[in-house]
Amino acid sequence: MDNTWLRTWSRRAADWGADYRRTVRERPVRAQSAPGDIARQVPAAPPEAAEAMEAIFADFEKIVVPGITHWQHPRFFAYFPANSSPPSLVAEYLTAAMGAQGMLWQTSPAATELETVVTQWLRQMIGLPDGFHGVIQDTASTATFAAILTGREKALGFSGNTKGLAGQPPVRVYASDQVHTSIDKACWMAGIGQENLVKVPTAGPHLAMDAGALEAAIVADRASGMLPATIVAALGGTSVGASDDIRAVAGIARRHGLYLHVDAAWAGSAMICPELRYWMAGAELADSFVFNPHKWLMTNFDCSVLFLRDPDALVRTLGIRPSYLATHGKDGILNYSEWSPQLGRRFRALKLWFVIRAYGVEGLRKIIRGHIAMAEDFARRIAAEPGFEIVTPPMLSLFTFRLVRPGLDAAGLDALNQRLLDAVNDDGRTYLTPARHQGKLVIRVQIGQTETALEDIDIAFAAIRDLAGRL
Ligand code: PLP
Repeated sequence: MDNTWLRTWSRRAADWGADYRRTVRERPVRAQSAPGDIARQVPAAPPEAAEAMEAIFADFEKIVVPGITHWQHPRFFAYFPANSSPPSLVAEYLTAAMGAQGMLWQTSPAATELETVVTQWLRQMIGLPDGFHGVIQDTASTATFAAILTGREKALGFSGNTKGLAGQPPVRVYASDQVHTSIDKACWMAGIGQENLVKVPTAGPHLAMDAGALEAAIVADRASGMLPATIVAALGGTSVGASDDIRAVAGIARRHGLYLHVDAAWAGSAMICPELRYWMAGAELADSFVFNPHKWLMTNFDCSVLFLRDPDALVRTLGIRPSYLATHGKDGILNYSEWSPQLGRRFRALKLWFVIRAYGVEGLRKIIRGHIAMAEDFARRIAAEPGFEIVTPPMLSLFTFRLVRPGLDAAGLDALNQRLLDAVNDDGRTYLTPARHQGKLVIRVQIGQTETALEDIDIAFAAIRDLAGRL
């Protein structure tokens, strides 16, 4: 395939991408495929002979696109967003064109140095103090895994990697009962085990960890010979946006010498708006803080930024080379593979650089403020509709609601709401996902798509109201 081939098909792909984004609003948000629909259309064995690109591209449109759930649809209100934007997309193309692998400084100095600069931009954008260092990971799950490993190693005097965990006191991790399952998984992968992840009950309007219960658990564990290591605080939990009082938790971490990691995977992007930073008060006292520009900062998946107060502890945990060589940037050279579980790393800083420059921080703030205003408006409309109740009010741009019918018991109400959810998602005008809150099935709405406009709220609201009326 020569250069003309590349030029022709890159242009076709660019045109396709621009047309896709212009018309995505007209498609059903969630793929309407049944299991097996896509695989059935693809031969089970690979082609021996080369195929024409016309045929490959035609099959992409015919087979693949109908099986895509449109995450960039302006009425994608499910899960959390994984939004993107034109400058991010263009940067991803350039990244792919160069195909650089940035595991070491010398394997692409620009990838490393741009990563250092843009993570410092992001640090300033969300108001974390000078002194925090950033590293881009693929996902928050990986970032949290790295943090849990670091907390484990600090507590074990850095002997876990060498000696293993057998014969060591049980390493304990503390988090609220609202945290994302990536915390559980990180504890599994770190050899800590589910039973050593202490889920602290939550209370209050923000479903924050009960600080008294947290401290009591740490004291009791230590008294019984266990090794309290790490606290994970939530900022914007997945189900309903639960958020801990980070300052209170940080005080406990300090008093007991524990590592504190903050999971702000989704909500962290909103911290670029200074008026919202009360949510993260105390984060400046944490050891690490993760958020995903690939969720809510118009930056293509994948791109998760982990900020660290003391990168030396992380590099001591994950940098597989003798410590006498571990200079971590003091000689002007950073090898970011020593900051991540993986060796190989994509050049993710480029898309952040493009996005931040193309929108400007104020442009990004405007989009996020718009999402929050639209979520508030959406929640107000649902609250005013007979037969609906708001279960949790907007936390930033996330709220939950449910349909209520007199005479139905708890199981009946859950079934009714599941039917509504299925009807909405089959209808295709919008896409919503459920959560369990205080034992009830609730329907989540989050607004975070780059192109979402008020007309999308009108359409989604009409779909929910009409379909509920038919149940
Ligand atoms: N933390 C929270 C609060 C999340 O909502 C999610 C995913 O939605 C994650 C962590 C995991 O994110 P990732 O998919 O980047 O691993």
